[in-house]
Amino acid sequence: MNKVEYELMTIGEILEAKRHASLAFVPVSPIEWHGPHLPVGTDGLHAHHVAVRAACELGGVVLPTLFVGTETIRLPGNDSEQLGALGLDDDARVVGMDLPGFPVQSLYFEESAFGVAVRELVRALAADSFRLIVLANGHGAVNHMRTLERIAREETRRDQTTVMSLMVWVPPPPPNRDPGHAAREETAVMMAIAGEHVRLDQLPPSGVPLRYAEYGIVDGPAFDGFPTSDFTVPPHADPRSATPEEGEQILVREVQSAVARVRQELRR
Ligand SMILES: [Zn+2]
Repeated sequence: MNKVEYELMTIGEILEAKRHASLAFVPVSPIEWHGPHLPVGTDGLHAHHVAVRAACELGGVVLPTLFVGTETIRLPGNDSEQLGALGLDDDARVVGMDLPGFPVQSLYFEESAFGVAVRELVRALAADSFRLIVLANGHGAVNHMRTLERIAREETRRDQTTVMSLMVWVPPPPPNRDPGHAAREETAVMMAIAGEHVRLDQLPPSGVPLRYAEYGIVDGPAFDGFPTSDFTVPPHADPRSATPEEGEQILVREVQSAVARVRQELRR
């Protein structure tokens, strides 16, 4: 396997990689609460893993993961992403996945500061003559993704440098939109990537319901505005039913999708 992780490469290896493909992946995601059972770096580890596999197929390099990302305060109401969809009161103060009473906080950046951090890295890579810069993202917050899309468009100079924002999650089949948070699929992905860091023993035994507000584990439909009636994770999204085999199947689809999208951009 080619060496693609930038921080491990020597100058000669970087020049050789660039001759092959002037392509840099930048994995970018926050440190964030992911239930009691997944590492706080889950989104960045996921983005980095997909980027490394894509770079092994396409060429190019993968920058060290930028563990920054942004979130917003949850609004009152029962619609998508709102407090009521998680079974929380309208006066609760919740930013992202930091639900009331959680003992460890996520390390979100304010949106503009996040934008500055990403833009600085993109500009440095563009100045170093990378032609295609791919912001590989594993975090689903709407304002986080919008910031990456915006920077990608603003920093693209056709005939010089193209910047693209790549969500590594392949979206669930419609009408669903959100892949969920720390639920079965994400747990399966982490089992496949770094199984030794997944601690299902930190969850109650199977059969004990997992309340969204208590664990910060949420199925995709709940985030879309369609929670279960008792605000607990439904059986189909239960992280305790995750397997590394399913995680690897998901990763294969994600890598295929990432390779296809980046290859299309490389051809332009
Ligand atoms: Zn996540």
